[in-house]
Amino acid sequence: MVIGLKDNFFYIWKNGKLNDIRFQIALPFILLIIIVMLGLGLYISDFLYNSLSTAEKKQLTSKVNLVAEIISPFLIDETFHDHLDYYTSLYAQQLETRLTVIDVYGEVLGDSQVDKESMNNIIELPEIKEAKNSGLGEDIRYSDLLGENSIYVAVPIIHEKEIIGFIRTNISIKPIENQIRGFQQSLVLITLLVIVITILITLWISNTSMAPLQKLTQLADMISSGTMDPESITSYAVKSSNDEISQLSKAFNGMATQLSNQIKALESERSKLVGIFSVMTDGVLIVDERSQIQLINPSAETMFSITQSDAIGNTLIEIFRNHQIQELWEQCNTTGEAQYATLEIIPQRLYLQGVATPLGQSLPGSTLLLFQNLTHLRKLETMRKDFVSNISHELRTPLASLKALTETLQEGALDDPPAAKRFLQRMETEVDSLSLMVSELLELSRIESGRVPLRMGRIHPCTVIKGAIERLILQAERAGLEIEIKCDDKIPDIMADSIRLEQVLVNLIHNAIKFTPQGGVIQISGRLAHPDVQFCVEDNGVGISREDLPRIFERFYKTDRARSSGGTGLGLAIARHTVEMHGGKIWAKSIQGKGSQFYFIIPLAD
Ligand code: ADP
Repeated sequence: MVIGLKDNFFYIWKNGKLNDIRFQIALPFILLIIIVMLGLGLYISDFLYNSLSTAEKKQLTSKVNLVAEIISPFLIDETFHDHLDYYTSLYAQQLETRLTVIDVYGEVLGDSQVDKESMNNIIELPEIKEAKNSGLGEDIRYSDLLGENSIYVAVPIIHEKEIIGFIRTNISIKPIENQIRGFQQSLVLITLLVIVITILITLWISNTSMAPLQKLTQLADMISSGTMDPESITSYAVKSSNDEISQLSKAFNGMATQLSNQIKALESERSKLVGIFSVMTDGVLIVDERSQIQLINPSAETMFSITQSDAIGNTLIEIFRNHQIQELWEQCNTTGEAQYATLEIIPQRLYLQGVATPLGQSLPGSTLLLFQNLTHLRKLETMRKDFVSNISHELRTPLASLKALTETLQEGALDDPPAAKRFLQRMETEVDSLSLMVSELLELSRIESGRVPLRMGRIHPCTVIKGAIERLILQAERAGLEIEIKCDDKIPDIMADSIRLEQVLVNLIHNAIKFTPQGGVIQISGRLAHPDVQFCVEDNGVGISREDLPRIFERFYKTDRARSSGGTGLGLAIARHTVEMHGGKIWAKSIQGKGSQFYFIIPLAD
C-alpha cells in the first residue's frame, strides 16, 4: 500500500494533475491545517513573547528596585558620586545585568558596561520618561551596545518622596526570541507531519473508494475510443463494496453488456451488408448530401477502374468526371425520388443502367447509386440485330438476282437458247450460293446447339495442316499465291476430330486466299505451346481494321471490303465454335494493309 501511495503521490506531482480527484480531496484539508497551524503559531508566539518578556521585566524591576534602594544614599551625598560608577558595576555583576544610574537631569553617574562620559540624552529615553511619570518605565528596542533587541526597565531613585535620580537596567531579548523560534520550528515540523499524514490518509481513502471509479473511467474510455473488443466487455466487470459506487458499477456493467450485445448485433448486420455488397455483380455507391462518396463496392471499383481509397471522401464529379452520373445524383437529390438513366461510360466502353435512390430515414441526405452493367446484353442485342439484317441481306442478294434472271427468261430470253443457257448457269450459281449458305447456317446452328458429335482421336498436327493445304493448293496457285508450311514433325499428337479440325484450317486458309492479292504468301504453321499445339495461318494480304477485328468471329460479320468476296460471313463463326468444342481457343491479329494472323490452340493428347 505504501508503494501505491508513493506512486500516486509522485504521479500527481510529476503529471501536474491538479484536477485529480484525490488532490481535490486532500487540498482543503491541507489548507485548513496550514491556516489553523499558522493562526495557532502566531497566537502562541505572541502569547509566549508577552508572558516571557513580562516575567523578564518583573525580574528586572525587582532587581532595579533593590539597587535603587541601596544606591539612594550614595546619590544624596555628592562625595560618593565619583564612586558611583564602581558601585554600579559591582551591583550589576552581582545581579548579572547591566545597570545605569543617572541623576534627575539625565547625567549618567555610573554604567556597568559603557563609559559614562560617552552617554548623553539619557533623560529623553522612553523608559526614563515613563519612570519619571509613573514610577516604572519599560521599553523594548534595539540596543546599539548589545547589537540586538533588549528589554529596558527603569525606576526612579527616591529620597524623602523626591526623585533624585533613575536606575535603569537592560537585558538582551534574544533568549526569549530563541525560545519562541524553537517553538515555531517545532510547530512547522508538526504541521508538515500532519500534512503528510493527511495526504497519506486522503490517498488511502480515495484509493480504496476511487479504484472502482477509475476502472469505470478506463472502461468508458475504452468503449468510447473503440479499442474495446465487445466480446471482452464483461470480463472488465467492475466490483466494488462501496454502496453508491457498487450501484453505479452495476448499472455500468449492465450498460457495457448491453452495449457489447448491440455492437455484436451491429457488426453482424454490417458484415452481412458488406458481404452482400462485395459479392454483388452490380456496382454500388453511397453518396452523401455533398456528393462525397461514402461507400463503394468491389464491382463498382472494377467497373470504373478506381480504388476504394481514391474514391472515399471525394465527390462524384472528381472521381468519375461524367456529367451523366452527376446529373443522375443531382436529380435524385433535388426531387427526393428514385431516378433511372442509361449511361455510356466512354473510357471503359461501358453501357450501364444507373439507378439513384434516396436512402431516406436510414441515412438522411445520402443516395444509393446502383449501376447494372448492360454492356454484354447490349452486345448480344447488337449481334442479334446484325444477324437479322445480315441474314436478310445475304438472302436478298441471290434471291434478287434469281428473280431478275427468271424475269429476263420470261420476257423472251427463253427464245434465245444460248442466252437462256447462260442465264440458267447463273441461276444455278445463285442457287448453289444459297444452298451453301443454308447448309453452313445449319452446320453452325448444329455446332452451337452441341448436336454435332466429335469423333475424337489422336492425330499429328502436321497431318491436319497437310490435309487442309491439299484441298486448297490448286485454288491458291490459281490466285497466284505462294503457300509455305512450317510444322515440326517432332511435336506430339493432339486429340481432335480430324475432319472438323481440317475444316477450321480450310476456312482460315480459304479466307487468306480470298483476302490476299496476287503474289502474296500464305504461311501455315504448327508449333508446341505446352500443354497445347498452336496453329497459325498468316497472310500478307489486305488485313482487317482495328474496329472490325473484335467482331470477325460473329455470325455473318463481314468487313465492308469483304461484301463482294462472295463469302457467307459464317466461316470464322464455325471455326470458333469448332475450336472451342475441342477445348481450345481462337484469336486473330491483323494490321490493315499488311496482313493477318489467325491463331488457334488445341490441347495435346495424353
Ligand atoms: P467469309 O465467308 O465472308 O469469309 P468469315 O467468317 O470467314 O466469312 O470471315 C468474316 C470476315 O472476316 C470476312 O468477311 C473478312 O472481312 C474478314 N476476314 C477473315 N479472314 C481474313 C483475312 N485473312 N484477311 C482479311 N480479312 C479477313
